[in-house]
Amino acid sequence: MGSLQRTGRAERSCDSSAARARPAVECWSVMRPSLPPNIAAEYRPATGGEVRAESFGALKAARVHGESDWRRQRGTFDDQAIFGPRRRYACACGQYEGSQYANIICDICGVKITTPDARRVRCAHINLEVEIFHPLGNEKDRLNAVPVLPARFFEAENGGELLSAYDAIICGRDERGVAEWFARLCEILSPVLVTAHCWDLSDRLLIAHGMALRDREK
Ligand SMILES: [Zn+2]
Repeated sequence: MGSLQRTGRAERSCDSSAARARPAVECWSVMRPSLPPNIAAEYRPATGGEVRAESFGALKAARVHGESDWRRQRGTFDDQAIFGPRRRYACACGQYEGSQYANIICDICGVKITTPDARRVRCAHINLEVEIFHPLGNEKDRLNAVPVLPARFFEAENGGELLSAYDAIICGRDERGVAEWFARLCEILSPVLVTAHCWDLSDRLLIAHGMALRDREK
């Protein structure tokens, strides 16, 4: 994949651990991304519970530029306990290294000892302090968690825009702003889903998950 996208932003503390979201705010003026009707008909909005069920951890802070201490990477886009190890069969703290430890979860840093291929499949999520309407659903479809795609997506050559949207959602305090950024996220991913759908690519369901969508029959 492409080079790592670094945002260069100053360190920000924006802890947003929201177990119980407040009621959704009206946001019909928010931009509504669109999918071709024949493709949209194949999917339904996911629930916050479904988003969390696919996640390996909640993100609580935006990326900290240049931070190398694994403890300070917890809950950020650099958290290897969530997204998987950067080095083959090595955890973040150095306690375990080598294929003989495969599939062990480090009791210190929480990283599963496996290959960086895990970074292609492990999703995260962002808990929202305020429920938002699903930008691809109707007024009864609300979300209190936003899915975060695996690291390979936001670390890809085109991933910078994705990472900016995730960062804005994590740090968002304004309901309309969060809804707009999630709608923007869906707008970025819509053409990717259309391609994956039309070519029946193996990533189709993963990309749909990134837009908080599920196959309609499930
Ligand atoms: Zn460790």
